[in-house]
Amino acid sequence: MRFYQHSLELYQTLEEELDSWFMHETKGLMWLAHTETQMRAERARSLLNLACGAETVMITPQEAKALCPQLDLSGGGRYPVLGASYHPAAATARHDRVVWAYAQGAMRRGVHVVQHTRVTGLVRDGERVTGVETSAGRISASVVLSAVGGSVSTVAAHAGVRLPIRTHPLQAFVTNGYDFPFAGIVSDTELLCYVSQTERGQMLIGAEYDAQPSYSLRSSFSFLQSSAAKITHLLPFLRDLRILRQWTGICDISADFSPIMGHTGVDGFLVTTGWGTWGFKAIPAGGEQMAQLIATGRAPALIEPFGLERFASDQTMADPGSTGTH
Ligand SMILES: Cc1cc2nc3c(=O)[nH]c(=O)nc-3n(C[C@H](O)[C@H](O)[C@H](O)COP(=O)(O)OP(=O)(O)OC[C@H]3O[C@@H](n4cnc5c(N)ncnc54)[C@H](O)[C@@H]3O)c2cc1C
Repeated sequence: MRFYQHSLELYQTLEEELDSWFMHETKGLMWLAHTETQMRAERARSLLNLACGAETVMITPQEAKALCPQLDLSGGGRYPVLGASYHPAAATARHDRVVWAYAQGAMRRGVHVVQHTRVTGLVRDGERVTGVETSAGRISASVVLSAVGGSVSTVAAHAGVRLPIRTHPLQAFVTNGYDFPFAGIVSDTELLCYVSQTERGQMLIGAEYDAQPSYSLRSSFSFLQSSAAKITHLLPFLRDLRILRQWTGICDISADFSPIMGHTGVDGFLVTTGWGTWGFKAIPAGGEQMAQLIATGRAPALIEPFGLERFASDQTMADPGSTGTH
């Protein structure tokens, strides 16, 4: 939680720092609960968050309705809302704009961004990794950091590193414009779905990742069907909207649902992976901390527990709380 809280705080001043507008907006996020078991989980989540400096409070169904008037508190008669935990500082940002803001900020500071160029292998000098082979030729480097999302297993395999990672597709979709404002982000860890409104007024809906590991970028009708069924129980107005666009990305899911950041046991080769379906919110902290690790050779305290060696020493960090809808 401390790691993600740090990231949230970095995001709050990032537009200014990068001199770029990426539509960062603090909206508040609620996690709805429909059973006593989930209420207990949400209470535990809010206490843990609070202990780590991330303001999170339990709210009643009426308070949830006041924050989000479109909510059907009976959950379509099947999923009554018993309460929710609420994180007022939660925010959204436009993902492609964040990527470009970072790329431009880095280039202004002298970083070379080489586009449309695939890493096809790693250069070795004995045991040490000393560069990358790419579709545009060889690039030497004293340190190579793999930050390739769902492709990490194939890149790490070039260094002979086997990671506890599975790659799963994750889908999302948007509806056409909704003419009224929709406040905040509504998430449901029992139904495993979330919804918010984009800057264009469209409703953005997502759910858990596909159960079958795969590198497929194909969007499926079954995903649309199951997500639409779940979300319309909570927000019946969505039935009157049309689905405009659907898309799929691949996600690197670690065995304990926590990221893996740091050394791999192969000299000169590091990874940042295991970001699953929740890596976007971690970008500022992940980048900052990995840069520190590379510069000093040592993992800063904030990310020390995320090392790969935790799997060998049986110190896994099962953290479904930070992963939202998995
Ligand atoms: C539909 C969907 C919704 C999501 N929603 C959220 C959300 O609401 N909140 C959240 O926090 N996260 C969300 N995520 C997860 C988030 O997008 C990822 O965790 C995050 O993008 C991971 O960042 P990354 O830089 O590690 O990898 P990526 O963003 O996947 O970037 C990896 C890059 O490496 C490149 N690459 C791959 N292989 C090679 C190679 N061999 N050579 C060179 N380059 C290579 C890829 O082209 C890509 O550009 C969502 C993901 C999806 C798919």
